Amino acid sequence: MGLISPEIIENVRLNTDIVQLIGEYVRLQKKGKNYVGACPFHQERDPSFTVTPDKQIFYCFGCHEGGNVFKFLMLFENLSFQEAVSRLAGRSGIQIPDTDSPRERKRAAREEWAWKANAMAADFYQHTLFNRPESSAARDYLKGRGLSEEIIKRFKIGYAPQGWESLLTFMRGRGYTPQQLVELGLAMAGERGLFRDRFRHRVMFPVTDALGRVLGFGGRILGDGQPKYLNSPETDFFSKGKILFGLDQARAPIRQHNQAVIMEGYLDVISAHQHSITNAVASLGTSLTPEQGKLLLRYTSRALFAYDSDRAGVAATLRGLDILQEQGFSLRILTIPESKDPDEFLQKHGQAGWKELILSAEPLLEYKLAHLLRDGGMRTDALAGIVKNLANISRRSELEEGVKSVSARLNLSWDAVMEELRSFKENQRKNWPKPDKIAKNKHNIIKSEKVTDPGLRAERGILQLLLEEPELIDRLITVLGEDFWSDQQYRRIFEIIRRHRKQGFFEPARAVNELDESDAELMNRLLFEQIPGDDPEKIMEDYISAIKRNLAIMQRTKLIQELAEAEKVGDRGKMNELMQQIQNLR
Ligand SMILES: [Zn+2]
Repeated sequence: MGLISPEIIENVRLNTDIVQLIGEYVRLQKKGKNYVGACPFHQERDPSFTVTPDKQIFYCFGCHEGGNVFKFLMLFENLSFQEAVSRLAGRSGIQIPDTDSPRERKRAAREEWAWKANAMAADFYQHTLFNRPESSAARDYLKGRGLSEEIIKRFKIGYAPQGWESLLTFMRGRGYTPQQLVELGLAMAGERGLFRDRFRHRVMFPVTDALGRVLGFGGRILGDGQPKYLNSPETDFFSKGKILFGLDQARAPIRQHNQAVIMEGYLDVISAHQHSITNAVASLGTSLTPEQGKLLLRYTSRALFAYDSDRAGVAATLRGLDILQEQGFSLRILTIPESKDPDEFLQKHGQAGWKELILSAEPLLEYKLAHLLRDGGMRTDALAGIVKNLANISRRSELEEGVKSVSARLNLSWDAVMEELRSFKENQRKNWPKPDKIAKNKHNIIKSEKVTDPGLRAERGILQLLLEEPELIDRLITVLGEDFWSDQQYRRIFEIIRRHRKQGFFEPARAVNELDESDAELMNRLLFEQIPGDDPEKIMEDYISAIKRNLAIMQRTKLIQELAEAEKVGDRGKMNELMQQIQNLR
């Protein structure tokens, strides 16, 4: 694997603004000179994830992940350093001379190939829908669902004709082999080496990523065939559980309203958008996955569930609620009356009816309790079922409110509910620590924050000061030289600061690329710690004195030990010499 030159890496870094980059993944709010948000690397409710535009680095006070733009992308997208650099280079339009990772290049090329082919297929389906006589049934169907031509075009809806190889023929004319269409999930290999279209006589809904690139399709049968909905098979390019249908259309409105509406199906979402409910997405499965929750968290942490109100829909809602609550979402649930899905409701009552319905949305606890108690559920079972949702609430006032409503609803005393919560948490602690992603990623033990040795504490303090005010290094070296470090990790970070200063100037976000993982982690942590006071020069002098004192103490201890040795063997000359040295130390 070829290496990307340091100049290019630095150029890419300087051309990528960390606030802008992270802002695409995490909702950031300005706080003083920093930006804060909910950490994407661990679950939390109160944001401890901080981005500093000055230093172009991020740091999480909760899980201690931190670094520059490359590190963020590596962690978030699970990329290697080289892959992260080439990804950001592409974004900034910086050419990397043929040395980026072949694996990444191959993957990217394949992905692009699939997007292009799928987009071509989507065009074919839509062209067929609007222009071919055999599509009249599909057009009638969409008209019957009340969808306008504008919305059909916005969602690129199309029609897959009845024939066995309509798409195959079309794509072959554009250079795609049947085998490739099978790989893309658009065709199937039949008997005797025959290929046929996977989607036939279906209304086609392209499924895109957040940027609108077509990853796969969902096709609804016209007439009575089975299955009613057929999706693209799971491939390298298409994984239903990691996609939210409609997100490309909905992501800006979701940010704007700071809320997402989560629905079940294609037509629910399309119908919602037609009725100006533009923050709607669909989970496209029996229930929402944690990956989908994470995807949504890039845009909002508030969601409204609007699943079908049939039995399956309720079960899926309950599962989805637990998943999202654990991720820190604030949730409400809509129960669609009479008709059973949002599409039908909207067709009947329109946007005005929807707005009214939203007022009746229930908070998570109430909704869940009602369902736990339905069909004659026992109060104790209901309490056992709801207690983990209480345990997920971190805000005290919210928790009190929750305990109050649970005890009222179940007609139990406050103490009984609290007791259940306590024992639940007790059990949870017993199972702790859970092997989560973060724990697995931590190869290195983070240096304890409370360093008690006075010498080490001063070394740490000096390093922290130098990261903030690198020019203080000259004074430091004049007084103490360069070899006073007793901690090797501190010494390595010091070395980087010294070298970069010599070469021009020191900048943490650049230097971090040259450190190994545990050194980089320590540096990030130090960068975000408060300097004790506001006169850096004065603080530096204090640390220097502390180091000197400590060196003297160590020297004295050493001499006293040598003196004891000399006494043992009765070496009078050596003893006198050592005594003299000890005297001089004072
Ligand atoms: Zn974190």
